[in-house]
Amino acid sequence: MSSNAELQWKGYAVHDTKLWDQFKVTDFNPKGMEDKDVDIKIEYCGICGSDIHTITGGWGDIILPLIPGHEITGHVVRVGPKVTEFKVGDRVGVGAQVGSCYDCQRCKSGAENYCLKPIHSYNSVYPDGTVSQGGYATAIRLNELFVFPIPDALSLEQASPMLCAGITAYSPLRTNGAGPGKSVGVIGIGGIGHYGLQFAKAMKCDRVVAFSHSENKKADALALGATDFVNTGAKNWVEEWTDTLDIILCTVDVSHHIPLSDIFATLKVHGRCIMLALPDDALPPISAFSMIASGVLLGGSHIGSKAEIVEMLDLAVKEGVKSYIELLPMKEVGKAVQGMKTGKVRYRYVLKVDPSIAD
Ligand SMILES: [Zn+2]
Ligand SMILES: [Zn+2]
Repeated sequence: MSSNAELQWKGYAVHDTKLWDQFKVTDFNPKGMEDKDVDIKIEYCGICGSDIHTITGGWGDIILPLIPGHEITGHVVRVGPKVTEFKVGDRVGVGAQVGSCYDCQRCKSGAENYCLKPIHSYNSVYPDGTVSQGGYATAIRLNELFVFPIPDALSLEQASPMLCAGITAYSPLRTNGAGPGKSVGVIGIGGIGHYGLQFAKAMKCDRVVAFSHSENKKADALALGATDFVNTGAKNWVEEWTDTLDIILCTVDVSHHIPLSDIFATLKVHGRCIMLALPDDALPPISAFSMIASGVLLGGSHIGSKAEIVEMLDLAVKEGVKSYIELLPMKEVGKAVQGMKTGKVRYRYVLKVDPSIAD
């Protein structure tokens, strides 16, 4: 375990959104240390779809140079004087949020992931003017509220992608009542979807239906816990699945690939379709006719609260939820973001920090 004096603040940064796969090792300054802050020596970081939308400029202009990454795990190396939850040496993780206002109704009621003044793990500006930098890096400093203890039974590389992709699937299942007696559909079998299937099974849903646009992922989907697999590239799937599902998680992140009216048709009365991915473009136009026919609800969900993340990690241990990962040294980050953009990965790249920049 290195002491904080040895901690280096270096990361793999993008310097131009047109050169989004060209990373350079770049020094950066963390925010000023505050009483409830924790310094973490990063060991692993997953690659999330958000990283790609951000570095390509798909979600708009970004603050350059920028170090992405928000599926972070490592060890605590320093704690501020008012930190109560962690000590040096603890195994911990960080997801997509590193700060909030700490004071609004949402923050005070355990919905800090919906605070209207969030600090995202990268590309946000702290009140002191520092730009937050993410996990393709050697270290991160943040308030302990957004640091999560990792159970001993879970390896850090397994836990990393659960901290964004995993919780993005888990939280809406919880919120929308997944469990015995319920049938859940997951549209898009990628990083988020592969957790959606596993967590729906872990929550003992009656039926877990995987929807994908080809047969390619059928074997994986069934191995991940799907009771049924639907190829949305085939004819007549809508007729076959009409009025069957209570909850749908939509993880597709290209808007023209989202067949909303077909999705609504598969829902039971008052069934819910929850959008989890954030395509660069607006969703396709929706006819109100397609919504009122079954009184369906269309909703969204944003990561999850700390309480939900702790609960999810426990369930993952108890029910054997696994992250399907491809581990790469962090210096291969360029190759990894390309593979993520082209959808090659099954189902998450996890970068391991290079000792050459970490030590
Ligand atoms: Zn993410
Ligand atoms: Zn708040």
